[in-house]
Amino acid sequence: MDKKTSAGRCWLVGAGPGDLGLVTLRAKECIEQAEVLVYDYLCNPEMLKWAPDGAEKIYAGKKAGEHTLSQEEINALLVERGKAGKRVVRLKGGDPFVFGRGGEEAQALAAAGVPFDIVPGVTSAIAGPAYAGIPITHRGSNSHVTFFTGHEDPTKTESSIDFAALAKLGGTQVMLMGVERIGAISQQMLANGMRADLPVALIRWATTGRQETLTGTLQNIAQRVADAGFEAPAVAVFGDVVSLRNELNWFERRPLSGKRIVVTRTRSQAGVLTAQLAALGADVLELPTIRIEPPTDVRGFAELVQDAHAYDWIVFTSPNGVNAFFELFYKLYNDAREIGGAKIAAIGPATAQRVKDFRLHVDLQPEEFVAEAVVREFKKQGGVENLRILLARAEKARDVLPKELSAMGGIVDEGFAYRTVPETRDDNGARRRLLEEGADLITFTSSSTVENFMALDLPWPAGMQVASIGPVTSKTARDLGLTVDVEARRHDVPGLVGAIRKFYE
Ligand code: SAH
Repeated sequence: MDKKTSAGRCWLVGAGPGDLGLVTLRAKECIEQAEVLVYDYLCNPEMLKWAPDGAEKIYAGKKAGEHTLSQEEINALLVERGKAGKRVVRLKGGDPFVFGRGGEEAQALAAAGVPFDIVPGVTSAIAGPAYAGIPITHRGSNSHVTFFTGHEDPTKTESSIDFAALAKLGGTQVMLMGVERIGAISQQMLANGMRADLPVALIRWATTGRQETLTGTLQNIAQRVADAGFEAPAVAVFGDVVSLRNELNWFERRPLSGKRIVVTRTRSQAGVLTAQLAALGADVLELPTIRIEPPTDVRGFAELVQDAHAYDWIVFTSPNGVNAFFELFYKLYNDAREIGGAKIAAIGPATAQRVKDFRLHVDLQPEEFVAEAVVREFKKQGGVENLRILLARAEKARDVLPKELSAMGGIVDEGFAYRTVPETRDDNGARRRLLEEGADLITFTSSSTVENFMALDLPWPAGMQVASIGPVTSKTARDLGLTVDVEARRHDVPGLVGAIRKFYE
């Protein structure tokens, strides 16, 4: 994307079928440079995070029956922002030109003279069957594929789908939209001479952790959909290739397929935990419980940071503290040496790592955030008598550490680097899904994840079980009235994932 052009432009971008790994590099590049992002219901919300801070994000809706913006309004919006000189990215589920009305949007842009690019995407019409283990073409089975829409303009009285032609054509037929009309559609197909025993598969939320597939025949599929309460969005495949799924089903056979698991996104470990659970097939709801905000008194903290070189020790108690400190430090100074001769203490491995990321040596690193351990380590280094110590920490953190260091004779300045507040937003839709769909299991990787989750005061979904990383976390959970169903033997992320896997075996 050319950043220099002042003229606006619109990119009609395929967002892929759901799995973030199926988004194209080009799509990612577009999002990373967007000034305006207009996105749909079927776009994986995780990709919105690629947008620059301050990009305008507009939800265009389009979940059947709840149009947030009409098509005309969307067209007008793209034209208006484009004419205003913006880099507009219109993200559409799957491929923009496969039943996505991308053509109409491009026409509107063309008519208004707003230049545009088309970025194709992986369509659900192909990815859905693939993730269900159904090759849409197969040597010896079929020599053509038809894509059709089951969605009809409600104002039409006559069906726009030529079922007689479809029946005659044979091959593999892939239908987008219209699961809710599967009864009428399968009847039409039968009435036009298609085989009653023709294999049919419906794949909903394809390529995501919540993918489910329902199979049957043209004769019984409608009844099965009704019995299972099977709902949109789904891709339907009609054809003999469907039976290959018996051999080729891969995605839904992973150890945690069908399990919805909550990961509370409080610690930097959350990403790793999410990735490992998702790789085993779980539908992971990453739920942020807290948000990091600047401290109430930024100026006060900035003054301490400015004097950093005057301290003998700078003590960090969390990666967030390190981030907050250096963000200010490099606003004040453009030379790392301005930190002077201060030694650095970092509590916990993640904190130490963050310090190292800034290319600074960690002089002292107690493994745990237990006052005695920290004190012991400082004593090993010769104590802190009359030494000046800057403690960069969260507002309202437990205050044992400054007391202990003062008791050892240190001259301690407490710097409130940031504060944590309960997360009330729902950027990725995880909270809404948790409330609407519930979950099988919630994971806790520390006492604070339990406390922060409980502080949100959300209704506990029926039947949701609890997995804890170890006895300390389990105790906090029990103290807050929870029952712990899974406890890791090894108290790290792989240990927790292993325990969960075993639990479901
Ligand atoms: N342009 C999109 C299709 C938009 S029409 C594409 O290329 O995939 C919307 C329909 O797409 C839905 O009703 C459903 O039939 C299908 N669809 C999109 N994403 C899907 C998914 N992850 N799983 C199943 N069906 C999906």
